[in-house]
Amino acid sequence: MWRGIRIAILLVVLAVVAGGAWLDQRRTTSWEHTVWIGAFPLNADGSEAASAYIATLSDADLQPVSEFVAREARRYGINIDEPVNIRLYPAPAALPPAAAPDASLLARVIWSLRLRRYRMAALAPIARARPRIALFLLYHDPAHAAVLPHSIGLQRGLMGVVHLFATPSQASQNGIVIAHELLHTFGATDKYDADSDAPVYPEGYAEPRREPRYPQRYAEIMAGRVPLGPQRQVMPDDLSQTLVGPATAREIGWSRQ
Ligand SMILES: [Zn+2]
Repeated sequence: MWRGIRIAILLVVLAVVAGGAWLDQRRTTSWEHTVWIGAFPLNADGSEAASAYIATLSDADLQPVSEFVAREARRYGINIDEPVNIRLYPAPAALPPAAAPDASLLARVIWSLRLRRYRMAALAPIARARPRIALFLLYHDPAHAAVLPHSIGLQRGLMGVVHLFATPSQASQNGIVIAHELLHTFGATDKYDADSDAPVYPEGYAEPRREPRYPQRYAEIMAGRVPLGPQRQVMPDDLSQTLVGPATAREIGWSRQ
């Protein structure tokens, strides 16, 4: 019985949190004012390489991401100069709570509440112009990890946990990953096939109406790859080869068509 009561209380808490987040989300996707985003770089593996790389980071490193959002917003007729402003802030001492891969529903509810608490604790010390969205950038030494854990962007949580490689040669790819997770926080969904990584047609195509359909020139940001043929796709080099497609634009409130 106690277990039932505990779950019921947690569900009520979650419903209240979700209600608050719904209001926040409407404010973030009206695109009438600049949305302030805090980026918190963290050393994911405790490596020298990650801390050395983090020490070199400045706001300018995140500029390509905000410029990408501004450029694409303009293409969809959003008329504010700076749709998003991304700034670096000192990160919390601890890493964000990680979810166990095979977690139960209850464990996932608790994890999502702990993530929200982590976000609030990270934002609390910022007195002026407190960011609405928090991106936790977890840098890994590429010598230790060939493959990174899955990044997440939570619309209802107004936060992302983004896994990145701590090396200048990956900076452009990191920009693509950060932009992808950031757009999740605005309500964009993934547009690639989870098994094959192939962009889903038409939503995962930057120019779905292009004739002939192949090769596509750009990657759709939520699909992450440039379709060259029905079974062939390549990673874009940087955000200049990446667009927000019509389906994503609808999801994040940039277009109604
Ligand atoms: Zn995604």
